[in-house]
Amino acid sequence: MERFYLTVARVAKKTLHHMVEHRIPMLPDIYSRHFYRYLASIDRDSQDIIEKQQQNDVKEVVNQQDQGLNIMQELSEMVDMLDQITGQHTKQLDNHLLCIKTTDKTNDLAKLKKDISHELSLVIINNNEIHSHIVDAQETVKRLQRKMEEVADMATIDELTGLFNRRALFSRLAEEHSRAERYGQGFSLLLIDIDDFKNVNDEHGHQVGDGILKGLGAFLRQNLRGSDFPARYGGEEFLCLLPSTDVEQAVQVGNKIRQLLSESTLSSKKKGVSLQVTISIGIAAFAPDDDIDTLIKRADDALYLAKRQGKNRVVTEREL
Ligand code: GH3
Ligand code: MG
Ligand code: MG
Repeated sequence: MERFYLTVARVAKKTLHHMVEHRIPMLPDIYSRHFYRYLASIDRDSQDIIEKQQQNDVKEVVNQQDQGLNIMQELSEMVDMLDQITGQHTKQLDNHLLCIKTTDKTNDLAKLKKDISHELSLVIINNNEIHSHIVDAQETVKRLQRKMEEVADMATIDELTGLFNRRALFSRLAEEHSRAERYGQGFSLLLIDIDDFKNVNDEHGHQVGDGILKGLGAFLRQNLRGSDFPARYGGEEFLCLLPSTDVEQAVQVGNKIRQLLSESTLSSKKKGVSLQVTISIGIAAFAPDDDIDTLIKRADDALYLAKRQGKNRVVTEREL
């Protein structure tokens, strides 16, 4: 636990330093994304410590969820019990009422009065007990809901590749888009798709395919700048947001990573297989009046053209 806190403190310090240096707005969700970026780029040991703690936290949530389910079960049994008990009491009270109507002996009436009052006190005790169980259970359910929401908010990283997921990507795109509109600070998108990836799966199996996606995630993190934002856009497609970057600069970045990748191999560690893959890249840069969809659409059209022109190449929106 001690090591976990020390590691978190170290990553947090680096993250803050980076954000101050690059004048990145100090907002909680931006901070957490940068935190995870650093985490993904630092040594494996520190990642393991934090991942382990996260797994424990997730286990704790699952455990709490199970407890919640047990409580729900208890709750439903309690409602049944309440139904039975009130049914029983109603039956007893009905009998007593019938006796009151049919008897004229004072002694019997006095005994009936005692029985009825005893029956009523039992009803009150049972009801109070059940009520307090229900209140407890409701509170626990609320606590669980909050915990689940927290865990959902934490999920900004794609599990397989370690890159940002779509959710984090679209939140960052929205920020970058409004910054571009307000301050005219442009940005570019690289939409990357692995060439003939289906063949990798067909020839080596899905697990190797997964290993290659993981390898490409690490490759992108290593070869892009710290201020860039590489995310897994879909299956074997990646979208990198390059802040303060115009089309020409984006083409340089795209060609650099395309070239580097075509000269290296990616390894599927689990299966011990190394493969060479190539990528095609479509590039679009923010233009006035763009919304996020129109911008991505142009990058997608450019990517499509790159595939049609023979793959393993970079095409920009200008060539459309
Ligand atoms: P192209 O050069 O035109 O992009 O050809 P392609 O074979 O890469 O394209 P296609 O879209 O036909 O196939 C993409 C493949 O990526 C199909 C799908 O099985 C695979 N894929 C998508 N997500 C994953 C994943 O998470 N793991 C693995 N192993 N494969 C995936
Ligand atoms: Mg594809
Ligand atoms: Mg593909």
